[in-house]
Amino acid sequence: MKKHIPLKKFSQNFLIDSHIITKIVELINPKSNEALVEIGPGLAALTKPICKLIDELIIIEIDKCLLERLKKHSFYSKLIVFHKDALKVDYLELFNKKNKLIRIFGNLPYNVSTSLILYLFKKIKIIKDMNFMLQKEVAQRLIASPGSKLYGRLSIIAQYYCNIKILLHVSPKCFRPVPKVDSIFVSLIPYTDYFPYFTHNIKVLSYITNLAFQKRRKILRHSLGKIFSEKVLITLNINPRLRPENISILQYCQLSNYMIENNIYQKYIFV
Ligand code: SAM
Repeated sequence: MKKHIPLKKFSQNFLIDSHIITKIVELINPKSNEALVEIGPGLAALTKPICKLIDELIIIEIDKCLLERLKKHSFYSKLIVFHKDALKVDYLELFNKKNKLIRIFGNLPYNVSTSLILYLFKKIKIIKDMNFMLQKEVAQRLIASPGSKLYGRLSIIAQYYCNIKILLHVSPKCFRPVPKVDSIFVSLIPYTDYFPYFTHNIKVLSYITNLAFQKRRKILRHSLGKIFSEKVLITLNINPRLRPENISILQYCQLSNYMIENNIYQKYIFV
């Protein structure tokens, strides 16, 4: 078979380190009775060993040439193939197909990983867990705490929905072509019984965090000034002179709930 030439536009950096591949498969720990979905199987570095452990795997791949190559493998009969952009897949359809919460994994295309994670959060109720290889900086943003340079909207929304754990640090040498960035393999497990944070409406939380972090250097009195007066911020125990990175997720939830409880969100957001 002719060698596949990796496409930059699809962030094709293929895993080649067998030790790391084995570790990742162990960490995902797939079981036959589960609804597993792989985003971007590529040259099957993870697909092949995972298919040894289960009977059926849903795959979503944008590159037709890579899908043609997969057809040559004996495990192909175990695959349910979606030739699609993972950002346009109706994950609810996959859930309905299997009638089970879905487990999503993949060595994600780094150019769309943040948008993809935010897109998947919109379908959080049908997801059991997500295990993703990400660019180190994106993984660090997911788990960042207040006060950190990497703390932002992604950290707040991700930690609102999920318990996130870093599972593995992966060197660029484990991929071909060698990427310019380090990688981290993470797990995101949606909260189900216990929720550490609460907002009446996630769209309002999303709106406030967006507004606050649009201008990271501005103090809250200025960045959120059009919604919250200094007096209101102080009543909510939030120092108006702080920058957005110094406010906890709990406090952002408080701000969004204040907007909802006082009926001031409709003016800004069409829910
Ligand atoms: N899983 C393989 C591995 O670990 O070697 C390939 C990982 S490579 C980083 C990313 C894969 O995602 C590629 O196969 C690429 O073609 C595919 N891909 C890129 N953008 C995509 C998208 N928007 N939707 C679905 N697949 C995509």
